[in-house]
Amino acid sequence: MSLADITARVEAAIAAAGRSPGCVTLIAVSKMQPDARVAEVLREGHRVFGENRVQEAAGKWPEFRDTFQDVDLHLIGPLQSNKVRQAFDLFQTIHSVDRPKLANTIARIADEEGHCPDLFLQVNTGEEEQKAGVLPADADDFIAQCRKLELPIKGLMCIPPVDEEPSLHFALLAKIAARNDLSGLSMGMSGDFETAIAQGATHIRVGSAIFGERDYD
Ligand SMILES: *Cc1c(COP(=O)(O)O)cnc(C)c1O
Repeated sequence: MSLADITARVEAAIAAAGRSPGCVTLIAVSKMQPDARVAEVLREGHRVFGENRVQEAAGKWPEFRDTFQDVDLHLIGPLQSNKVRQAFDLFQTIHSVDRPKLANTIARIADEEGHCPDLFLQVNTGEEEQKAGVLPADADDFIAQCRKLELPIKGLMCIPPVDEEPSLHFALLAKIAARNDLSGLSMGMSGDFETAIAQGATHIRVGSAIFGERDYD
């Protein structure tokens, strides 16, 4: 698939859901992709990208930014407290705020730096042991805590369990967001972004469908 194919599928899914054109941000997930492929997508005019490691992003995006203006970079993977300041320099949005300690660190560094990326709070909708995010039952409290810290919370994010029907997880995330007056929903990946759009996703994170399989060597 190419970027144009995916963009067309996104637009079709938005129309099928009766939503307004442009209401979904396509985040092209460039982690573990060859620089040449990423440059190709940049040359096609796309500017919104996602990375799941601070270190990997630091290794390639400053250089891409020298060549391509207005890159909008999203952190979609786990963030350690000691990398928060570096993440502030690299990313316009962080989708993986997943615990109170991290929220506190972000608030302190936002204070020191005088700015803060947009934030999504990650919810572990499948209650998986190995997965990051707050449990659904703790989400309301966590959102309230983050609001008390005056963090710029735009919405919620989830990664459904690989072996489960994603729509149940998307519905749960949308429900938690609605009752907390949050409009952003970061949900949907290569295999299920159309379902996510039907259920109200505002940000979809699509990697392999745009770039091809990742290169883990
Ligand atoms: C890698 C990754 C994606 C993209 O996955 P694809 O299946 O390649 O589209 C989306 N979200 C997160 C959090 C990821 O780590």
